[in-house]
Amino acid sequence: MTREAEIAELVTAARAAMANAHAPYSRFAVGAAVRLTDGSIVTGCNFENASYGLSLCAETVALATVNAQGRFADVAAIAVVGGAMDGAGAAIVTPCGRCRQVMNEAEQIAGRPLAIYCATPDGAQIVEHTVAALLPHAFGPADLGITPVRKN
Ligand code: ZN
Repeated sequence: MTREAEIAELVTAARAAMANAHAPYSRFAVGAAVRLTDGSIVTGCNFENASYGLSLCAETVALATVNAQGRFADVAAIAVVGGAMDGAGAAIVTPCGRCRQVMNEAEQIAGRPLAIYCATPDGAQIVEHTVAALLPHAFGPADLGITPVRKN
């Protein structure tokens, strides 16, 4: 599979996850798809709650699911797609600040650059980012004097 085909497949998986968003409050659905080093894909979608503050973002759900599978050190890339559930707007969505911090953790644990693909809801436009570009001067394990431990 070409690099472009792999990116398109990851964005398609994120779009499919977006359809499962539990977002009755914001009415803004987000899907995320994480590519692992063996090529497999793990997805997540936003998971809102009536108490608002407990809501989880798609990227965090996907990365926590990867961790629950014991694969956090195998993260290689993540695609993010989002948009209003009424179809209004078609802009490329980028991760929120908390998710950027979670992505930095994933990159530090994996010990390799994490490619971040942000796409329009229809997947037609894709922009690639790095953690360093999205979260300059990040706080991470090294700031706590900790060397990330890779479980696998
Ligand atoms: Zn977020």
